[in-house]
Amino acid sequence: MHALASPALIPDFIRAIASTIRDNAEEITALDQTIGDGDHLINLQRGIDGLLPQAEELSQLDWSAALQKIGLSVMNTVGGASGSLYGTLFLSLGKGAKERPMTLLHFADVFTQGVEAVKMRGKADLGEKTMLDVLIPVAKSLQQAAEESVPCAKVLENIRQTAEAGVESTRDLLATKGRASFLGERARGHLDAGAKSSQLMIAAIAGVLADKCF
Ligand code: ADP
Ligand code: MG
Repeated sequence: MHALASPALIPDFIRAIASTIRDNAEEITALDQTIGDGDHLINLQRGIDGLLPQAEELSQLDWSAALQKIGLSVMNTVGGASGSLYGTLFLSLGKGAKERPMTLLHFADVFTQGVEAVKMRGKADLGEKTMLDVLIPVAKSLQQAAEESVPCAKVLENIRQTAEAGVESTRDLLATKGRASFLGERARGHLDAGAKSSQLMIAAIAGVLADKCF
């Protein structure tokens, strides 16, 4: 993969994310109802509804400006813990993308920095039953792919599988951050809603990009 798709694909990304969140709405709500407060789907939908009308405008910007705008929009429209965490991720991606071409090599670094910003914001790390159990392994997978010049289709497949393994890994974890941490042992046996939404969004983006591999 020489260069990641241009921001012209942003409307496709947003629509693909909207559709996967819609298709998995019941599961997301059920997960957050079981070990959270049940609002994760509504939070995600607010973020998507805020972005959909801006999609075409975002596609005209450069990656850095577009990602920063997405980050601000998410911060302003999405409630809950996930709003500030996803907002932080996109704002950091926007900062990282400044004056750097979006090749896989650079994106791996930019994404890793973004995930670091989420870790700092939530004071959380791998193994705490959160979205980070998807985001951290995906960042590692990207880094590895960049170092080893893995072909495009394989990079995307690895990312999808890594994200799926990540969300599955949350099942047996105790939650030590967020609302689920109040449940103690009762959180075990259930997937984390934010890990699930991260996995779905990553799979949606990989799905759009898969058509662009050559
Ligand atoms: P809230 O927890 O405020 O109701 P949401 O339901 O929208 O917000 O999002 C919950 C998700 O946010 C969790 O499933 C988890 O993945 C993620 N999360 C919560 N706290 C943290 C944290 N400190 N660090 C990383 N992710 C977190
Ligand atoms: Mg919630």
